[in-house]
Amino acid sequence: METLADPRAAARWCAREREQGRRIGFVPTMGAIHEGHLELVRRSVRDTDVTCVSIFVNPLQFDNPEDLARYPRDLDADLALLERAGCHMAFTGTLEQFFPGIGDPGAVPREDAGPGAAGLEGRQRPGHFAGVATIVRRLFELVRPDCAYFGEKDFQQTLVVRHVAAGLGYPEIVVCPTVRDSAGLAWSSRNVRLSAAERRCALAIPRALTAAREAWRRGERDAGRLSGIMHEVLDGSGLEVEYAEVRDPEHWQAEVSTGRLRRAQGLVAARAGETRLIDSMRLDR
Ligand code: AMP
Repeated sequence: METLADPRAAARWCAREREQGRRIGFVPTMGAIHEGHLELVRRSVRDTDVTCVSIFVNPLQFDNPEDLARYPRDLDADLALLERAGCHMAFTGTLEQFFPGIGDPGAVPREDAGPGAAGLEGRQRPGHFAGVATIVRRLFELVRPDCAYFGEKDFQQTLVVRHVAAGLGYPEIVVCPTVRDSAGLAWSSRNVRLSAAERRCALAIPRALTAAREAWRRGERDAGRLSGIMHEVLDGSGLEVEYAEVRDPEHWQAEVSTGRLRRAQGLVAARAGETRLIDSMRLDR
């Protein structure tokens, strides 16, 4: 596996691969690599000729400076895991390297994140999705991938990256199912911060999503009642719930969904102690 600490060197590496006629798969990450990331890498390795991964804790998408400072980082461990999963090239960079000549994160011109950024995460974390869209566009321009792989766990983010890709005309966006540990908790870089007690509380999140999926399978279609089922599971779990909603994933809107749904995506954000967790599950499949 090639390891590059300069985004321009990564762009040159990708250009050479493209000239050889190879299809490029790309997995953008913020590092602290876990099974969720590795599944995206394995899928890319299966689908394309060469797979590259970026590791960059993007300051533009953090609305909370403490969260940014405490974000877990372990580059050597990350590179070893990526190599074992079959990654061909991993690269890192600094904000200055990604946006030359702009020293201050606040001065980087933000991309439009599109309609998928409205509501839920977009409401809880102002500016977050514009920061995501800005770095994702830059990464896509550097790598020029054929396919880029994202996790369903960050469902609203998949709407934002589809918007960026539609603007550029590439790459194909492939959304992969949320990978969970044996207890059902979605893998997340932030899980390492959970105490044993907080982890137990956090398990209410997949329980709530599963309860809504079971209700869907029994024939419940009302958005409000499906969301209510999730709240019932989450209430009294010890988590501080930011939102728990069921929406039509193909008709995104800023407001809370009401009425009968034809498709259903469960979305939850909650805090276990100081750690903010999000999760998402398709309920109608
Ligand atoms: P992050 O490093 O958290 O920015 O995540 C990088 C990519 O990995 C994003 O597309 C995430 O949605 C995806 N990802 C993170 N956790 C999981 C998971 N548990 N299952 C599937 N994909 C995930």
